[in-house]
Amino acid sequence: MRRVYMDHSATTPVRPEVVEVMLNCLTEKFGNPSSLHYFGRLGRRALDEAREKVANAIGAKPEEIVFTSGGTEADNMAIHGVAMLNQNRGNHIITSAVEHHAVLNTVKALGKQGFTVTILPVDKYGMVSVEDLANAITDKTILITIMHANNEVGTVQPIKEMAALAKAKGVLFHTDAVQSMGKIPVNVDELGVDLLTISGHKIYGPKGVGALYIRKGTRWRQSLFHGGAQERLRRAGTENVPGIVALGKACELAVQELDKEAVRLTGIRDKLIQEVMEKIADVRLTGHPTKRLPNHASFCFEFIEGESMLLSMDMKGIAASSGSACTSGSLEPSHVLLAMGIPHELAHGSIRLTLGRDNTMEDVDYFIENMVPIVERLRAMSPLNPDSEFDFEENCADCKISSSCHL
Ligand SMILES: *Cc1c(COP(=O)(O)O)cnc(C)c1O
Repeated sequence: MRRVYMDHSATTPVRPEVVEVMLNCLTEKFGNPSSLHYFGRLGRRALDEAREKVANAIGAKPEEIVFTSGGTEADNMAIHGVAMLNQNRGNHIITSAVEHHAVLNTVKALGKQGFTVTILPVDKYGMVSVEDLANAITDKTILITIMHANNEVGTVQPIKEMAALAKAKGVLFHTDAVQSMGKIPVNVDELGVDLLTISGHKIYGPKGVGALYIRKGTRWRQSLFHGGAQERLRRAGTENVPGIVALGKACELAVQELDKEAVRLTGIRDKLIQEVMEKIADVRLTGHPTKRLPNHASFCFEFIEGESMLLSMDMKGIAASSGSACTSGSLEPSHVLLAMGIPHELAHGSIRLTLGRDNTMEDVDYFIENMVPIVERLRAMSPLNPDSEFDFEENCADCKISSSCHL
């Protein structure tokens, strides 16, 4: 069967060039970077080179990079770190309603430990207002954490403006750049941020590795874990050298190919959006129409459930994702879609298509060819559709699932 993977915001395959350097590291450069002997020195050198590559890719200095177990740890580290460093300066943290759970739940956890939290709303495109941010900053604010690009709807935030505002008020600014890395330019000085998160597996590297950029001068001498003195006392634990080397290579390639790939992906994305809007009725594009990631298309389909669409698509070999309740593992649909003011019923019909290196224009044709009949068939039997053939008497009479049903 033809397989079309359109879920690159969830994860990406590891590129062959990355596998190659990683394999070489696993077998040949296995020494512990803390060891003084030859083997240790090889590991140390591999680590240093990777740090340089990651730093170069985001316009940072090598000593400003701390390797972590992924985007989640880097987000936790940034937020906890600033909170602990600045406890005697203030206790106010500002974030947005559309953050990844790695940020949102970390901030909320601190909210239960005596920190004051402001969660900024977004407009219908998922955009945070710079003015709202300006109004939210107080003399107790110690950290602002707002993502560069959203994973669910692709909206790119005005980080440069917001970080400038933070700087003027002497507040540290963190951004989660896991989704923007490799898709649009990510440069710590251009953006003006103090802390920035990236993750390996979203940029054709392996899972379980990421990095936090910490701007020089933040006097960071703490680790989420207690242990050894690795990463200049900022992250205890023997370094994941093969993963880190792979992250270095993935970053290097991502930046080398960014301009060309962004143009190519934008072309495919725009065709995808245009065809969906033209060929399928009652569909809404979610996220910003223009200020969005070049590989990101997301929609809400009326009268259908996201997971029914995903399952039907999967039977045709198409892989995508949804922010509807069942896929998110809770009864509530995606917090991002709800924050954008999308009604519950519509949010249940959300589909996210995220493109990558392996996608082509022909994939769009294949998607549309299969999606049009899928939507037609599901809508014909959907209880949410006023014109459907769904038999309420027969199907709903003895139903006990009342709390999650929106009928
Ligand atoms: C995937 C993702 C993360 C988490 O990164 P992991 O490496 O999977 O822990 C954080 N933020 C965003 C925006 C993401 O898309």
